[in-house]
Amino acid sequence: MSKYLLKVVGKKQTVAHIWDGSSKDTACRLWSTGGIHSKENYVVRDDTMGRGICQLCKHKTDPVLNERQQQQSRDRRSLEIRCSELESKLDSTNSRLAACLRANSRRDDIFRKMEEDKIIESYFRSKGQ
Ligand SMILES: [Zn+2]
Repeated sequence: MSKYLLKVVGKKQTVAHIWDGSSKDTACRLWSTGGIHSKENYVVRDDTMGRGICQLCKHKTDPVLNERQQQQSRDRRSLEIRCSELESKLDSTNSRLAACLRANSRRDDIFRKMEEDKIIESYFRSKGQ
């Protein structure tokens, strides 16, 4: 059963964060990263007190979404490794990735005319992500 971290002091009704008892933190890591200023204003409960769930918490606990994000960063990493020889010539990660895609893709004639962001976007879209 899920537990929720709720702010109970203050006028404004806030969202319910999903509380992870084992790591003693919210799913969105608000607790450990200092996003909550006065921890005594919060309680952990079994219900949301009718509040909406924090969007970030929801995303972090969605296994489908998580798997997709992990796959994307794995793909990105492996692509970046293959592109490491371009590293010295280009500064940002996105430029590197775009240059690599331009160099490796069969669609390089199309990619050459596209913006860097669009190339990366279209790469991930073509992989169904
Ligand atoms: Zn949250």
